[in-house]
Amino acid sequence: MKKPIQYCDFCGRSEREVSFLLTGVSGMICGDCVKSAEAILKDAIKNGKGQDKSQGKSQGNSQSKDSHLRGNDGVLPFPRDIKAFLDQYVIGQDDAKRYLSVAVYNHYKRLMQADSDDDVEIEKSNIIMVGATGTGKTLLAKTIARMLKVPFAIVDATVLTEAGYVGEDIESILTRLLQVADYKIKDAERGIVFIDEIDKIARKSDNPSITRDVSGEGVQQGLLKLLEGSIINVPPQGGRKHPDQPMIAIDTKNILFVCGGAFDGIERKISQRLNTQVVGYTSPAHNTAIDKNNMLQYISPQDLKSFGLIPEIIGRMPVLTYLQPLDKAALRAILTEPKNSIIKQYIKMFEMDGVKLTFDEAALEFVVEKAIEFKLGARGLRSITENMMIDAMFEIPSTEQKELHVTLDYAKNHIEKNALQYAVAS
Ligand code: ADP
Repeated sequence: MKKPIQYCDFCGRSEREVSFLLTGVSGMICGDCVKSAEAILKDAIKNGKGQDKSQGKSQGNSQSKDSHLRGNDGVLPFPRDIKAFLDQYVIGQDDAKRYLSVAVYNHYKRLMQADSDDDVEIEKSNIIMVGATGTGKTLLAKTIARMLKVPFAIVDATVLTEAGYVGEDIESILTRLLQVADYKIKDAERGIVFIDEIDKIARKSDNPSITRDVSGEGVQQGLLKLLEGSIINVPPQGGRKHPDQPMIAIDTKNILFVCGGAFDGIERKISQRLNTQVVGYTSPAHNTAIDKNNMLQYISPQDLKSFGLIPEIIGRMPVLTYLQPLDKAALRAILTEPKNSIIKQYIKMFEMDGVKLTFDEAALEFVVEKAIEFKLGARGLRSITENMMIDAMFEIPSTEQKELHVTLDYAKNHIEKNALQYAVAS
């Protein structure tokens, strides 16, 4: 029996007209169509319309749809994935994590859009986080940078002064970023800068005075240029010790600035505002009772202005979020739950000496109680644990001991031995 003529299901040509015909489960495709399909697929992947699933890395566990955005290092994770990543390292602070995740996601959307010739320009979403010291502001920013694998620099706003005065110039912020990026300008221009203690550059007083406010309003004015995005000449070695060094021009348009500050006393400004607003029918307090123990959750840009940030600076940090004070349960979780928690680190260190380290729950609770008692917050957990473990870390490596179980008594004996030092410090 004569074999029927076969046709390409894509272009309709018969096997006589094409050089090669590939047979699939339920159809045929000719060599020419395979070539065009390949070109179309490549184009689609390049334009972000299709995802090459054979190579595309999926991060996180909630890829409900294919992420069509591609970051520096493969597919850009969705906000949910960013938050899931933060959850591994930072305890609680859900609101801050959600704000950060969205801001970072949008920032990278913006970077991608910057390369296209779209008319709609997405504005930069610099972030400001308000929360007591030791609640995880730096940790959040650091963790985000770790996830995105971009250069990340931490700078302290307290040392900054207006150009020409004692202290560091504002451009030194970018010097730090350049150093972290190994002087690769392109990398630095996509990095993240965490400016800590931003509240310390608040305007020193409301009255215009004859003395210039060189570390307050002057610095804020200087920061404006950086935050909004412009080309800044940066001394690569920093400082004023090398006046002859050639400057490096850095475009800050795509650098994400995350600012953090404790804003001591801002709760008072928030409650003042809420109390006056109660009169108005639009007040949020009208429907919901105010939680007086955590006033920061009601923070608004107005409060930052009353605290002494100038409106221009506030406007350039459109994402405003807050961190919760850490309670006993949060401190207890910080001790053991994060991926690289303090306790996991000690267990690892002992393991390297072949020693199995275990803890009684009561001992861990005791460490938390001491951190609260000495008012050291999460920062204190580390030093208290260090004090508890120091003797063992000194002795055990040179003995045959293979196990150490830390009980409440052990914790009490070893921490209290050093308690005096905290009593003086607090
Ligand atoms: P901040 O920048 O708010 O002053 P940090 O982020 O530097 O505070 O926190 C200090 C230390 O306390 C961190 O190194 C971290 O170990 C711990 N810590 C603080 N908050 C948290 C948190 N929410 N989850 C896990 N660890 C935390």
